[in-house]
Amino acid sequence: MNLAQRLNNLRPSPTLSLTEKAGQLKAAGRQIITLSVGEPDFATPSWIIEAAHQAALIGQTRYTPVGGTPALKQAIISKFARDNRLDYTPAEIVASSGGKQVIFNALFATLDAGDEVIIPTPYWVSYPDMVELCDGRSVIIECPKSQDYKLSPAQLEAAITPRTKWLILNAPSNPTGMMYSFDELWQLAQVIRRNPHVMVMSDDIYEHLIYDGTVFNTIAQVEPDIRHQVLTVNGVSKSYAMTGWRIGYAGGPRHLIEAMTNIQSQSTSNPCSIAQAAAVAALNGDHSFLNEWCHQYQSRRDYMLQAMHDETKLKCIRPNGAFYLFPNCDAYIDCTTPQGQQITSDLDLSAYLLDQAGLAVVPGSAFGAPGHLRFSFALSMDDLQKAMQVLTQALENLR
Ligand code: PLP
Repeated sequence: MNLAQRLNNLRPSPTLSLTEKAGQLKAAGRQIITLSVGEPDFATPSWIIEAAHQAALIGQTRYTPVGGTPALKQAIISKFARDNRLDYTPAEIVASSGGKQVIFNALFATLDAGDEVIIPTPYWVSYPDMVELCDGRSVIIECPKSQDYKLSPAQLEAAITPRTKWLILNAPSNPTGMMYSFDELWQLAQVIRRNPHVMVMSDDIYEHLIYDGTVFNTIAQVEPDIRHQVLTVNGVSKSYAMTGWRIGYAGGPRHLIEAMTNIQSQSTSNPCSIAQAAAVAALNGDHSFLNEWCHQYQSRRDYMLQAMHDETKLKCIRPNGAFYLFPNCDAYIDCTTPQGQQITSDLDLSAYLLDQAGLAVVPGSAFGAPGHLRFSFALSMDDLQKAMQVLTQALENLR
């Protein structure tokens, strides 16, 4: 059987593939430290699990409305009002099986063949592949370290054409952890305001994982005039350590939300009813545990940054959010391994670290930023210390 042509350029998610490869090596008895995963190491808080248990016991085990139960939509509306000062009605909200499905549905609902989506680098691995799956064209804008990996208003303006449908913004960013200030977002919003045919997808999934007292802003809140041009995407995966529960959601213009819901009704139907009940408990519950989690993430980030700076030639910005470090690794390109192989790219370097040092990290090329590596610091301090020892030794062995 021939597969559809639209799959010609589809690659499996490189982060998931790497985690799988690391798993296989582990199963074969190798000691592997996995710094490639994109999920918290904390357990889902117990009261959230309890809410799911109760929901199952009282019979919330049937189909729900496709775009989410009234209780979940209300919890999402309250969250947007509380955290982002955004007011939505239930018809402007959809819940799906993860943020990933929300993003896919939005692109699928809006892209015709050749429509353009502006994606600043470094980007989350799935955006360009999703755009291609929906017959769109990714317009990749390079945002180098010299501009803190941020898109500038001039770059945005220059990239917009009559075919532009979306700009995708993601901050705190996966993989760099960078965040835009209120003013930086406001300036980007002015470009969007002058181009009413362009929508912004604001992927805010790491909103609550922020450090150093940084304040989170989202573009629809910063410039209410473009609110009708913005889809604000979020989910419970990262903030509440609920990656396996698969609940993501979005607020946006009614006609877009309706289209996304219709797509869902003909593909996966409602997200899991029990997970929805858990998400209601998460969104409506006490958030004070997040202070402790962020405190721990921040200590781990600081430890990793210091060790990288003191012991290696990796060069990294200090991320304000998410749980990744994204150092530049140019100092090691063109080095030779003890086995006599030349390291010609970040791909070679990450393969060397996995094969020779048992360290799984993601090459920057997967995020459209060659010459970098992505390290997750969502691991215990013990594991991070072991990882840094192994990393330092492996990099010292390069000549
Ligand atoms: N957006 C970004 C930037 C992510 O890193 C992820 C997950 O890794 C997602 C969206 C999707 O998360 P989920 O589908 O678990 O809600």
